[in-house]
Amino acid sequence: MDAMMQKRRAMEVDLRKALANGEFELYYQPIVNLKKDDLCGFEALLRWNHPEKGLIPPLEFIPLAEETELIVPIGEWVLRQACQEASTWPSDLSVAVNISAAQFKMRDLTQVVVSALANASLIPLRLELEITESVLLLNTDATLATLHKLRELGVRISMDDFGTGYSSLSYLRSFPFDKIKIDRSFVHDLATDEDSMAIIRAVTGLGTSLGMATTGEGVETQEELDYLKSEGCTEAQGYFFSRPKPVAEIHKMLDQRAVAAKAVA
Ligand code: C2E
Ligand code: CA
Ligand code: CA
Repeated sequence: MDAMMQKRRAMEVDLRKALANGEFELYYQPIVNLKKDDLCGFEALLRWNHPEKGLIPPLEFIPLAEETELIVPIGEWVLRQACQEASTWPSDLSVAVNISAAQFKMRDLTQVVVSALANASLIPLRLELEITESVLLLNTDATLATLHKLRELGVRISMDDFGTGYSSLSYLRSFPFDKIKIDRSFVHDLATDEDSMAIIRAVTGLGTSLGMATTGEGVETQEELDYLKSEGCTEAQGYFFSRPKPVAEIHKMLDQRAVAAKAVA
């Protein structure tokens, strides 16, 4: 217990310095539009290049960043960086940024978003904010007001990890999301579990009825992709297409895409 606390404290000390030391980096994972069979954007995923421990995945430090509220300045950095990066991409591509509940609690998120978009000269339509049920669990009028304000600006709001929380369905009713991201646990179980198939069918149907896009997360095989397509899922993301990659590799990918488009034209 003591050792664990010490490890945690050491990580907190390091985390406090990481932003100023420029140790964070964003990786980007492609998202594919299944109706057009084409890339439609990227999700920004945070990485920490620790000077001694090397690359630390987000699940190992984001919970601590959330508890200590360090996620507020870190999350602001992520937003600014992602908007800046997206402004260098072709204008049909959007960027999705994960936002923690703590970022809704602290200060006016809308202002930070407006400023990040303005600094990058990015139109709001190209920015998607991914939130999980934990944001709606805050259950405050202020949270909903912020979400509505952001949406009025033209920023799109996605419900992330759909199906993993306690009451995903009721949250769908509390806010007009633009997109539902079906958690990868359902996609992963597709081949072996008929219940997962039924759930995916129900969620894509729900998306269609509610006028929301649906993204299947964690697609790793052709079979999973085929099933999502056959059920009318509108987007997919996963290792089948690409792992999250650093910026330089994303630029290579976009250059190849431009060459391919020219060849077709
Ligand atoms: P998420 O938002 O659900 O992001 C998707 C995660 O699934 C990413 O993990 C991604 O690498 C992984 N993934 C994508 N395709 C596949 C696949 O085909 N198979 C498998 N097994 N995994 C796949 P990652 O990058 O480790 O991020 C984990 C979580 O950390 C994210 O889950 C998100 O909740 C959080 N996170 C990442 N970046 C940020 C950030 O900037 N801010 C906040 N607040 N949270 C972040
Ligand atoms: Ca996400
Ligand atoms: Ca997710």
